[in-house]
Amino acid sequence: MATPENKLAFDGGWGYDPAPESTDHINIKNRYGLFINGDFVKPEKGKYFDTVNPATEERTSRVADASQADVDKAVKAAREAYRTTWGRMKPAERGKYMYRIARIMQERAREFSVIESLDGGKPIRESRDVDVPLAAAHFFYYAGWADKLEYAFPGRTARPLGVAGQIIPWNFPLLMAAWKIAPALACGNTVVLKPAETTPLTALKLAEVIADAGLPPGVVNIVTGAGATGAAIVEHPDVDKIAFTGSTNVGRLIQKTIAGTNKKYTLELGGKAANIIFADAAIDQAVEGIVNGIFFNQGHVCCAGSRLLVQESVADEVIAKLKDRMETLIVGNPLDKNTDIGAINSSMQLEKIQSYLKIGKAEGGEMHQSSCRVPRKGYFCRPTIFTGVSQSSRVVQEEIFGPVLAIQTFRRYDEALVKANNTPYGLSGGIWTDKGSKIFKMTQGMRAGVVWANTFNKFDPTSPFGGYKESGVGREGGLHGLDAYVKLGAK
Ligand code: NAP
Ligand code: MG
Repeated sequence: MATPENKLAFDGGWGYDPAPESTDHINIKNRYGLFINGDFVKPEKGKYFDTVNPATEERTSRVADASQADVDKAVKAAREAYRTTWGRMKPAERGKYMYRIARIMQERAREFSVIESLDGGKPIRESRDVDVPLAAAHFFYYAGWADKLEYAFPGRTARPLGVAGQIIPWNFPLLMAAWKIAPALACGNTVVLKPAETTPLTALKLAEVIADAGLPPGVVNIVTGAGATGAAIVEHPDVDKIAFTGSTNVGRLIQKTIAGTNKKYTLELGGKAANIIFADAAIDQAVEGIVNGIFFNQGHVCCAGSRLLVQESVADEVIAKLKDRMETLIVGNPLDKNTDIGAINSSMQLEKIQSYLKIGKAEGGEMHQSSCRVPRKGYFCRPTIFTGVSQSSRVVQEEIFGPVLAIQTFRRYDEALVKANNTPYGLSGGIWTDKGSKIFKMTQGMRAGVVWANTFNKFDPTSPFGGYKESGVGREGGLHGLDAYVKLGAK
C-alpha cells in the first residue's frame, strides 16, 4: 500500500509504492562496548548513551561513552601494537590484511548500508551505491600502496608516524572511517578512531570486520563518545598525528590544542560550494547536478553545492526547471529505495536548519519549498531554495548543512568568480558550460580544493581531497593522502 508520504504529488497522483529494504539480515547488538586491543570492552566508568534512528526517533542501540582513561587505554594498545607488530610487519603483509578487510566489507555490504541508513538517516540508495562501495574501495586502493611506498616517494624513505588519532563526523560515518584508517594502516601506523556521537554503529561494525580479518590486537581501536572523548584523543601526549573531519570551529580548537607539540595534523572542515551555471550549459543536466549537489543526502555534505550562481539570461529557466524537479523529490523513509531525501541526522541539526530558514526570510530572501509531504515522526526537511539573497546574506555565507540552496545570478564570468570566492571556505565548486576554455579559465580562478566540471560530488580513492582557507589543512585521498601518514627521510 502506498502511504501519502510515498505518493508523488505530481502527474495526477501517480507515484511509487513503498519499496523498503528489509532489515531482517542485520545484526545490531543492544549494547556496544569500546573496541580496544582487539576486543569489545566495558568503559571504565560504565557509562553508555543511546544512538537513535532519526527517521523514527527510536533507539537503535546503546554505545559506550569513553572517558579519558578509556582513551588512554586505547592509545596504549595502539602504541604497543605499533611497537611489536604493525610497525615492524613487512609492508606486503600489511597489504594482505587490508585486502581482507576490503573483501569482508564487500561481502557484508548490504548489512553495512542498512545500518548506515538506520543510524544516520541517509537514503539507502546513497549508502548502498556510494558510502559502502567507496569505503571498501579505499581499503583496496591503499592496500595496494602498502608495499609500494618507495615508489610513492622516490629517492626518500617513508617511515610511519606511530599512533594516529582520528575523529570523524556524522555525515559519512563508514566512508570517513575507511578514508582515515586505510592510509594510516598502509603506511604502518596504528589507530585510535572516534566516530560521531550520533552515528557510531557502522564504525563498530567495521571493528567486527577488523577482528574477523585477524588484524593483530591494538592496530585499530574504536572509541565511542561525544566531544570530550575527541578532545581526550587530541590532548593525549602519546598520539603522533591527528586527522580530523568536522566543523571549522572544532578544527580551530584542535589546532590551538596541538600548537607547540610535535603532532602532525590534517583538518577537513566546512564548505559553502558554488555551482556556477553558464548560459551555454546543458540546462537539464545542470539542474540534475544542482539537485544531486544539495538535496540528495539532505545537504549533509561538506562539499555540497549549497550556493547556485546562474548566468542572468538563463536564470528564470533554470529556477523554473529546478522548482519542477523539486516537486518530484521524495522525502521520507531512508530505507525506501525510492527515497531521494532521507532524515536529517539529529533534532539538533534540524533545529539549526530551521533557524537558517528563519534567518533567510528575515534577511529579505524569498523562500520556496517543494510541496511534498513529510512524515510526522522523525526529523525531516523539505528541499528549499532562497532567491533574492545578497552576497552578505547569512544563508549565502554560512554553512547550513541541510537541503537549502541559496541562488544568485551573474552576468560575466569574472563576476561569477568574485562571488564564488567571496566566502571564508574553499572546499569545492562546480562549473556547468559547453566550453572547455571556460572550464579552464574558471578552475584556475576558483579558490577551492575540488572543482567539478559538468558533474558534481564525484569521488574516487585515487583523487586527493581537501580545502583552501577555512575549509582545512592538508589533503586526504590518493597519493597525497599517504603524505599525511609518513615521516620522510633521506635514502
Ligand atoms: P563537529 O561538531 O566538528 O564534530 C566532528 C567530530 O568531532 C565528532 O566526532 C565530534 O564528536 C568531535 N568533536 C566535537 N568536539 C570536539 C572537540 N572539542 N575535540 C575533539 N573532537 C570533537 O562537526 P559535525 O557537526 O559533527 O559535522 C559537520 C561538520 O563537518 C560540517 O561543518 C561539515 O562541513 C564538516 N565536514 C567536513 C568534511 C570535509 O571533508 N571537509 C567532511 C564531512 C563533514 P560529537 O559527535 O560527539 O560531536
Ligand atoms: Mg543515530
